[in-house]
Amino acid sequence: MRKYFLLTPGPTPIPPEVAQKESLPILHHRTSEFGEYFIQVIEGLKYVFQTQKNDIFIITSSGTGAMESAIVNLLNKDDEVIVASCGVFGNRWEKICNTYGVKVIKIESEWGKSVNPEEIEQKLKENPQVKCVFTTHTETSTGVVNDLKSIGNIVSKTDAILVIDAISGLCGQELKTDDWKLDVVVSGSQKGLMCAPGLSFVCVGAKAMPLVEKATLPRFYFDWREMKKSISKKQTPYTPAVSLIVSLAESINIIKKEGLENIFARTEKLAKVCRAGLKGLNLELFADESCACNVLTSAKVPENIDGKKIVKMLREEFGISIAGGQGKLEGKIIRVAHMGYIDQFDLFVAFTGLETVLSRMGHKLEFGNSIEKAQSVLNS
Ligand SMILES: *Cc1c(COP(=O)(O)O)cnc(C)c1O
Repeated sequence: MRKYFLLTPGPTPIPPEVAQKESLPILHHRTSEFGEYFIQVIEGLKYVFQTQKNDIFIITSSGTGAMESAIVNLLNKDDEVIVASCGVFGNRWEKICNTYGVKVIKIESEWGKSVNPEEIEQKLKENPQVKCVFTTHTETSTGVVNDLKSIGNIVSKTDAILVIDAISGLCGQELKTDDWKLDVVVSGSQKGLMCAPGLSFVCVGAKAMPLVEKATLPRFYFDWREMKKSISKKQTPYTPAVSLIVSLAESINIIKKEGLENIFARTEKLAKVCRAGLKGLNLELFADESCACNVLTSAKVPENIDGKKIVKMLREEFGISIAGGQGKLEGKIIRVAHMGYIDQFDLFVAFTGLETVLSRMGHKLEFGNSIEKAQSVLNS
């Protein structure tokens, strides 16, 4: 018998009420019963994305599918774009662009720091032909949040379209699609939205739509024009993940009941608790504290320890899943998520497990110190 604790920045645990909905009898997707769920979820997502007028498309794919859909629906081969990256997921925009022959002007920040909006402003001035600017809301590989409000202001004064990957940040870290002038925002079901993996979302504004009509990159399954046509019939062009959409309706109910502002405040508190707990283990935080995000926390692994072993031992011996480093940070950091259904006591499980594992590996720490530090923040 093994009890599992899931504290990874995707997928995240899901509430039992949401899981239960997934087991209901399958509805046919061309029925009014399903249509009602579909429209309810679209309206709920408008609340979550904080938009009044934008189109919301629901795609059966992981988050990366929504990212790819943005590129094929907005661009032509040889178009020039800016990718402003501060980690693995920022770089993913560049990789997809390269796949389709879109030319990337790259802005790269040091990992652990956020994208500098002024650099985007400068690059846009130097390259007025740029069609889109791609960046990330919360960079999950490092635990950093970008200043989307400033970036939105800058890009909105140009002809370029701003495209945001908010896959891990949506519903945990403030994001105002309309107010911040974010033209396209993509997300996924398995993080802050407390659902199983398998759905992705795109939120598309009026400034982006003319590009969608003119784009010439190849697209079929991901064609937003077909998705838009189907919505008027309360349908998707092809068979949707019916059970996931039905379960998402439940998680949106839960989200609405608590209220986005309360969720943001609760998640911010969890971030503070997590930072205190990890510091209490004598670990140094990885992300710059001035731009550390609220949905996960990253910490440096001590020099003489292999971070991959920490993750492996926690999972195999104690059933606790946290994340290690990605890309050039492999083995060098650990990442603990506190988004969605993850709560304060899940974090205490992680701290206790980490205490045991780190001390076994020879890291100097005081038992109970992490808990004490985290408790004092939790109760402040
Ligand atoms: C999880 C994540 C993705 C990738 O999502 P998949 O669902 O694995 O395709 C992309 N960007 C960010 C910021 C993420 O956190």
